[in-house]
Amino acid sequence: MKLFATKGGRKIPGNKHISLEREPFVLDPKKVEFVYFPLVAANNAPLEVLVKEGDKVKVGTKIAVQQQFSVPLFSSVSGSVAAVEKRLNLTTGRACDYLVIKNDFKMTPEKPLKKVKLDAKKEDIVAALKEAGLVGLGGAGFPTWVKYNNVKDIHTVLINAVECEPYLTTDFVMAKVNAEKIVSGALYLQKAADAAKVIIAIKEKKEEARDALKLAASDYPSVEIREVPDRYPMGWEATLVYEVFKKRYDRLPAEIGVIVNNSSTAMAVHDALVDGKVITERLITVSGNIVKNPSNIVVPVGVLAETVLKEFDLADQEFALLPGGPMTSNPAKDASFALPACLGALTLMEKIEYRPVACLRCGACTTHCPAGLQPVEILRAFDGRDYNRLEKLETLRCVDCGLCSYVCPSKIEVTDMMKKAKTILRVHQSRKK
Ligand code: SF4
Ligand code: SF4
Repeated sequence: MKLFATKGGRKIPGNKHISLEREPFVLDPKKVEFVYFPLVAANNAPLEVLVKEGDKVKVGTKIAVQQQFSVPLFSSVSGSVAAVEKRLNLTTGRACDYLVIKNDFKMTPEKPLKKVKLDAKKEDIVAALKEAGLVGLGGAGFPTWVKYNNVKDIHTVLINAVECEPYLTTDFVMAKVNAEKIVSGALYLQKAADAAKVIIAIKEKKEEARDALKLAASDYPSVEIREVPDRYPMGWEATLVYEVFKKRYDRLPAEIGVIVNNSSTAMAVHDALVDGKVITERLITVSGNIVKNPSNIVVPVGVLAETVLKEFDLADQEFALLPGGPMTSNPAKDASFALPACLGALTLMEKIEYRPVACLRCGACTTHCPAGLQPVEILRAFDGRDYNRLEKLETLRCVDCGLCSYVCPSKIEVTDMMKKAKTILRVHQSRKK
């Protein structure tokens, strides 16, 4: 089975300029009384907790470890461990135990990590990525070191700074302001993969970010800055890999000699290996068509969405709060969830209730699907619980990009149905096993 071509996709309004009109700013840590860290991993496995109620912590103290991949979690404030309480986990979609840290408002830093030089052995760089608990900051949250552990035959590290979802601008701001750090982190990843080349991909017409990256990379002939078309979902890994290499793969880009990381992750690699800093804060975009003063804001990991939203003026109307971009996120019930390190945006959109009508069989969902699927046929198979057909139609290759719902003239929530179809198919397959 081969995945993905650049067929499908389409240009959609970016609305990115609105969050760039205001300078990015830092959420005052004094406004954050508590931070919250989930005690289960994405696969629902419990974390090993390293602290107990009443323990003192600093900014960067290791508080728990995700055991499957040994990924540590660090406190984002100094203070004390206050409690364990139940909250909604955005990653799993269920309530789980959260470790609550009470801020003492001193922001006392933990000792920095051991710094690693670029000429270190690749095994030492991978070990440092593991020690720093680095995870993909483009949304997936997958442990970075795992991608680089014992890899062979990698020719290129592809840094994804495309940021194709509407409204989101953190990668653009980062590339403009921190281009040297992104290039530096990319060079470490190149070394970890033993790759000949780095390509940093950025969307066309982002001149300021492109020029900053080109300048930062000018001393490194192995680093190329590549502009790619402004077409959604160009930032999806498989779409971007095909655009750059004109090759497809089955499961992982490593099959064709490529490892992909987000540009914010590359910057976090620099921060950890060069400056000894773990991820305790991140830049996020707060935007959408009901935010009167959208902007980018630096927030501590584990802060509640409701605390962040107090910094913004919202139009007085009903809205949907989306943890992430408008194409791929499902609305949150309320703003009481905590922000994990891999979340890059809060998008607030006017609530519009569409009344779906019958499918016109216009084929728009099929034409635009970047994975080359036939969503309309999958919906029919889903309605009839025809598992063989769902398998034949390669339902599980859907990447939840949201484009089929976006283009559907009948206002059918095609993407939601795709998600449900994937769930029932997975359950069916595991029962069969
Ligand atoms: S886009 Fe909507 S109306 Fe058109 S075929 Fe797909 S589901 Fe049917
Ligand atoms: S959500 Fe899935 S089915 Fe719909 S367009 Fe995207 S990849 Fe295709």
